[in-house]
Amino acid sequence: MADYNDVWVYIEHKDGALSPMSFELLGVAQTLAGELGSKACAFVIAENADEMAKEAGYYGASKVYAINGSSFKTFRPDAYSKAAASLINNYKPDIILYRSTTQGLELSAATAALVDVGLGADAIGLSIDSGSKTLKLTRAAFGGSYLATYMNEKSKPQMATVRPKVFAMPERDASKSAEIVKDSFAVAEDDLRSKVAQFMQSEIAVNLVEADIIVSGGRGMGKAEGFAVIKALADVLGGAVGASRAAVDSGWISVEQQVGQTGKTVKPKIYIACGISGAIQHLAGMRTSDCIVAINKDAEAPIFKIASYAIVGDYNQVVPKLVDEFKKKLNK
Ligand code: FAD
Repeated sequence: MADYNDVWVYIEHKDGALSPMSFELLGVAQTLAGELGSKACAFVIAENADEMAKEAGYYGASKVYAINGSSFKTFRPDAYSKAAASLINNYKPDIILYRSTTQGLELSAATAALVDVGLGADAIGLSIDSGSKTLKLTRAAFGGSYLATYMNEKSKPQMATVRPKVFAMPERDASKSAEIVKDSFAVAEDDLRSKVAQFMQSEIAVNLVEADIIVSGGRGMGKAEGFAVIKALADVLGGAVGASRAAVDSGWISVEQQVGQTGKTVKPKIYIACGISGAIQHLAGMRTSDCIVAINKDAEAPIFKIASYAIVGDYNQVVPKLVDEFKKKLNK
């Protein structure tokens, strides 16, 4: 397996609109490549991939592999995985990293099956084993009670999906540039098993992981309707709704919105925690938020220990007042 080189990062887009958070993994890719004496690279598959490829260079990719083609206007796992497998077979990357987003999960799994390699899922830690020079992937196991470290010593490339917002986003530096390697791949529509009929906007308009502002509710909401109060605040701030596991387990909100060790890791500019006590497993998913505002009726709640702003009170009274004030300030 000696001829496999470089650490690749998959660059996501939605119908040609780049997902800038894709560049997040170029930071850790540079660290891993440094340990291996190889390069951090990226790959992008799109109708017009060139601008996105250039942008990846600004975030530290030394080389970007780009496949352009009208078949790749919209993400389709079977078309994209065939194109990705062709890139892998042509250029033999050592490691490939994808974010654990819907697109990253679908593409990584389909591509791993096509090139017949293993796939490590939802990494929260990545390093290189000093002896074997193999990727070591750490992830939560057994519902978050343990951290497990995995290595795939049997096949290459080593592929992993990585939990968003665990690794720091590298700085954009427009003086940097990447070598762009243009490749081509023709997809026969008849070979594809899926066609995209329509996209429908989900009820939750703002993506939790990418949101700059998150308003989360916990068991203190008391009932599902409590989340309408939370949503009103999230809406006025243009933010997303999050939740503790206790709220999810109570059936008040979808598991997609769970923040924490066994939920999503988030790092918004503002995280507003309402009726959440601050259990260690919840903090694991949000404690690196830039500013934490906690609203809790118990002045001794542990969440106040990490809060930038503490509001002691019943959320039923506090949150509607905040909504009114923000409406006035923001002219809404
Ligand atoms: P509670 O701890 O019950 O706190 C409710 C809070 O609401 C209290 O502080 C109370 O004072 C306050 N309150 C009550 N009424 C009001 C009101 N009207 N106004 C204002 N405040 C009010 N938890 C997660 O969140 N995410 C995870 O990913 C996660 N993973 C886990 C993994 C494992 C292996 C285990 C064992 C547990 C995990 N948990 C996780 C659960 C975690 O341990 C806690 O049980 C959970 O976070 C508690 O949720 P909570 O803060 O909403 O509820």
